[in-house]
Amino acid sequence: MVARAITYLCAMIANDGEKFKKVVSHAKEYGYIYPSSEIYDGLSAVYDYGPYGSLLKNNIKEYWWKAMVQMHENIVGIDAAILMHPTTWKASGHVDAFNDPLIDNKDSKKRYRADVLIEDFMAKLDDKIHKEVDKARKRFGGSFDEAMFISTNNRVLELTDRKKQIGDRLAKAMTDGNMEELRQIIVDCEIADPESGSRNWTEVRQFNLMFSTKLGSVADAADTIYLRPETAQGIFVNFLNVQKTTRQKVPFGIAQIGKAFRNEIVARQFIFRMREFEQMEMQYFVRPGEEDNWYSYWKEHRMKWHKSLGTDDSMLKFKDHENLAHYAKAAVDIEFQFPFGFKELEGIHSRTDYDLSRHQEFSGKKLQFFDPELNQSYVPFVVETSIGCDRMFLAMLCNAYDEEQVQDDTRTVLKLPPALAPVKVAVLPLVKKDGLPEKALEIFHQLRFSHQCQYDEKDSIGKRYRRQDAIGTPYCITVDHQSLEDGTVTIRERDTMQQERVSVEEVQQVVNERVQMNLLLKKLVS
Ligand code: ATP
Repeated sequence: MVARAITYLCAMIANDGEKFKKVVSHAKEYGYIYPSSEIYDGLSAVYDYGPYGSLLKNNIKEYWWKAMVQMHENIVGIDAAILMHPTTWKASGHVDAFNDPLIDNKDSKKRYRADVLIEDFMAKLDDKIHKEVDKARKRFGGSFDEAMFISTNNRVLELTDRKKQIGDRLAKAMTDGNMEELRQIIVDCEIADPESGSRNWTEVRQFNLMFSTKLGSVADAADTIYLRPETAQGIFVNFLNVQKTTRQKVPFGIAQIGKAFRNEIVARQFIFRMREFEQMEMQYFVRPGEEDNWYSYWKEHRMKWHKSLGTDDSMLKFKDHENLAHYAKAAVDIEFQFPFGFKELEGIHSRTDYDLSRHQEFSGKKLQFFDPELNQSYVPFVVETSIGCDRMFLAMLCNAYDEEQVQDDTRTVLKLPPALAPVKVAVLPLVKKDGLPEKALEIFHQLRFSHQCQYDEKDSIGKRYRRQDAIGTPYCITVDHQSLEDGTVTIRERDTMQQERVSVEEVQQVVNERVQMNLLLKKLVS
């Protein structure tokens, strides 16, 4: 075993903004993510996944799918079409209400979401509160009573009250669709354009986020249809088909992974907010009256899923929705601490019987379940979990990216969970002669039946390790001269860089045990 001294280079990633830039350029340089149609200067907020990116994304999807469909005997999966009957979107409310409030700055000509400008302002008030608390903690040391300070300090009380007042006004304006009031909040709070500092704002307008197109060859006669803005509706309209063909009884769930499209007003922050993205959604159909228990179950279960990937507790939190849709009984986001702050990664929503009832009303078809135990029919209530695959990908990338000083060298490493890593193992002959490549290729040809592997003989062994670190390969197997003598190889672990010798016969089993997805799935039921 070779132990190496690692100095963590926290100071090198001076701040989160800088870290984010590094993650973005690393993603491009190492074949994770490219701007879409880059040779034509790209298309705003649309991205392509490269060779390693598509492998990582597939692994994230596989883990989600297995956690839902394989691990729950009462959850089944579907793959519905992206194009749906246009009435679907009338029934779901998207045609009339899937709007974001848009505001332009007249000086900078930049466009913003009015609600996001106000939320960002509230987040700044939050920061000020935290700073006051931190200052007091330093001043009072061990005797500091945070709860007491927050409930009595005048400055903190004033900031908290201001934040609450703005939050209440925002929630009411959003519920009422009151665009004048949204603008007034921006004016009253003296919110300036983050880019230019100007306060010269236009009116606030509603903007529908759905992409429309025409179905049929004669444009005039053709129907307007939409690219789905969420995958959920494909599940709702198939509720009875699935229930009947799989003989499910309530409670049961339908899971789906698929593309969704939103013409986002402001699409920044890389793949956090895209115009074409992928969702992983599960609708769980329950007896009316049992939705609260299931809501709690799914909240806890989904948080467990995130933590099973080794994400530190401090990086994840729940955030209850302050602004509930009229049909929603409860809604919470799982937020992840991206380099640009805590932001929504996944939503868990208790949606009553709204969706099925609306489709029942608009289609004229009964969407009910006959419950043999209760001897009655009803429209089931729905608890849904909805996560963006691309946001999950970004969270994994940000979490994994690290820079370390190793002796007099810096290594960039992606510490991805082994089960999600694009390449599981690289097989490397120490030198390109003496029969080592032949032996290494033999091992490579065996391992690739079970795992995504790479064989690499170019450059020094150090450089090859760095290449594998940069793409996040958890294990490197090195064939050296001793391998020819005693049939052993070294296995190098990415994060510790420690090496151990194992016999060639054991390699397959050792790798299997360490990279398999079962390890993660078992954490979900423990
Ligand atoms: P946001 O408030 O960030 O716009 P949302 O509340 O509209 O998100 P939902 O409609 O609940 O999002 O969608 C479920 C999940 O889909 C989100 O938690 C997020 O992970 C993902 N998602 C939504 N919009 C986008 C987007 N434009 N790009 C990438 N992922 C998205």
